[in-house]
Amino acid sequence: MNALIQQAKQEHYAIPQINVNGLLWIESILEAAEATRSPIIVGTTDKVVEFLGGYHFICTTIKNKIKTMNITIPVIVHLDHGLTVENCKKAVDAGYDSVMYDGSKLSIEENIKQTKAVVEYAHNNKVIVEGEVGAIGGNEDGIVGNVKYADLDDCIRLAQEAKLDTLAPALGSVHGKYQGEPDLGFSEMKAIQEAIDIPLVLHGASGISDEDLLTAIHLGHAKINFNTEINIAWSNQLRQTLNQDKSLFNPQQILKPSKAAMVETIKSIIYKCTSYNRV
Ligand SMILES: [Zn+2]
Repeated sequence: MNALIQQAKQEHYAIPQINVNGLLWIESILEAAEATRSPIIVGTTDKVVEFLGGYHFICTTIKNKIKTMNITIPVIVHLDHGLTVENCKKAVDAGYDSVMYDGSKLSIEENIKQTKAVVEYAHNNKVIVEGEVGAIGGNEDGIVGNVKYADLDDCIRLAQEAKLDTLAPALGSVHGKYQGEPDLGFSEMKAIQEAIDIPLVLHGASGISDEDLLTAIHLGHAKINFNTEINIAWSNQLRQTLNQDKSLFNPQQILKPSKAAMVETIKSIIYKCTSYNRV
């Protein structure tokens, strides 16, 4: 799994992570990735895992879907913003391929200590680990924060001391909807990329311009997380379908157009990340 992200970094594209909010999301992500021959990361954020049926249920469901849909592109099942070391271990035990431990609200000492515990357990089970430094702003799925730029020394320490596979340095991106123009710290990004050789991860990419995404990719980002714009496409289409025919009650008739809207949005994300035709 690590080799996939390393390859993306070397060849200057990013593998999109798309977050799951139910069965239709899993199907849409896999369909879009297969059609465009893109490797893909299927994410579940820790705060919604219970809503999704628990670590084991959702991980097994994603893997079963990969089989029944005859998916041939590489898929990484990832835990996004793991809240505790215990939760990350549960995800590893449930069969996730990759976990993120979010210790960004802790002191750097404590962040390193907790992330290290996740890495030791995960690596023993051939699972890769993403860590975070600084604070990503905004509000999404109950993850709330004010933007705090990642400190270069903290990034180097967390990556090296915890033996991370990927690092998410917060550099001005925001979860959920942006208020005004996103302002990414490209000079800080360049310094981090030059100091650390592992692939970087960009959170809160919905709303960042295509040009800025490409700059981030060229500055070492090989995994980019998307959630908000897919959910906006889904909900806009759902509202439109229901408003067009007030007598509709057949679930498939109601849900199919919103699924198609998600597939199109995910394909557009894959084009932005230039991860198409890579497998
Ligand atoms: Zn995030």
